Amino acid sequence: MVQGAGCGGRRTERRPAPGTPHPAPGPRPPAPGPRHPAPCSICGKTPVTFVRYSGAHLCREHFVDFVRRKVSRELRRQVRLPDGATVAVAVSGGKDSMVALRILHDLLGPRRGIRLVAITVDEGIRGYRPPALKVVARHCRETGIEHRVVSFREAFDLTMDSTRRCWGAATPCTYCGVLRRHCLNRAAREMGADVLATGLNLDDTAQSILMNICRGDVERLARLGPHERVREGLVRRIQPLRQVTDKESFLYATLMGYPVHHSVCPYAADAMRNRFRELVASLEDSSPGTRFCILNSHDALRPSLEEMFPPARLERCPGCGEPSAEGHCAACRLARALKRGAGCRVPGAGNDEGSGTGARRRSAP
Ligand code: SF4
Repeated sequence: MVQGAGCGGRRTERRPAPGTPHPAPGPRPPAPGPRHPAPCSICGKTPVTFVRYSGAHLCREHFVDFVRRKVSRELRRQVRLPDGATVAVAVSGGKDSMVALRILHDLLGPRRGIRLVAITVDEGIRGYRPPALKVVARHCRETGIEHRVVSFREAFDLTMDSTRRCWGAATPCTYCGVLRRHCLNRAAREMGADVLATGLNLDDTAQSILMNICRGDVERLARLGPHERVREGLVRRIQPLRQVTDKESFLYATLMGYPVHHSVCPYAADAMRNRFRELVASLEDSSPGTRFCILNSHDALRPSLEEMFPPARLERCPGCGEPSAEGHCAACRLARALKRGAGCRVPGAGNDEGSGTGARRRSAP
């Protein structure tokens, strides 16, 4: 019999005296009844989730409130939106971008003069992007949100599918990430957006920080969003879901009944991000709260990193007119290399592994 076996407590075990006959097998003890989860830590109702890193059980109502408060606080921390501002949201159709769009719609809708627009990038990936586009377009129509689609074909006269033979040793996300970012910035600027919100959640952010550390790319670490400064030609990027975990985003979208496109990009399997996803998940599993620690460490180092790597002066790319640190921008150089059939790593292109939500595996609730 074991008593007082709580975490860290002392175990005291009573052993039978030597020579005591073995007890005859009696009737089995009754099977334990159904286990009832602890009630909501706030109101005592039936919980829908257990927030492991804080130890709170939350019912539907308090979970929804918990997520919205986190997003609202993060939004206020990242940006001050003046009346009349335009907020663009990059919406792929995955759970995170849908949650970001709808929470921003709910938070900013009552504010007069704030315009919310959704932008979707069509990378030209057959069987993956068209159904996602339909989901976003229908949802925006039903909620009255302005929606614009920009495609790689329109911007660069290529698609991800048509260039797959030219990727060489690089992963597809290396190309796709740069071209996507170019399309989003351009569309947001053309739509008069003051900020561009992405659906990057806490897990994505922790993975990006670790990826850049492991690659030794300290300069990129200094440039990770959310952006605090406005730079000529670049729409400032914000990340309202930065404190929301992958699981919380999934549960929120499910509870709210949002239409979400769940498929995974067929090119996502090659993304290096997959390894960091597993690493971060395993660290979090053994030590709850690790993702917040990674994020907070990066926030603490950010001022020093920005001092070490001040932003380069931007000029206009002679090819497309978008901001560029020097000569043709990374997107123009990549697109040209892909069209020439020369899969290569273009200097300055970085490695934007899986910046789209397609790189994520579907999360379990
Ligand atoms: Fe592009 Fe995302 Fe697919 Fe990578 S996973 S190829 S970034 S859509």
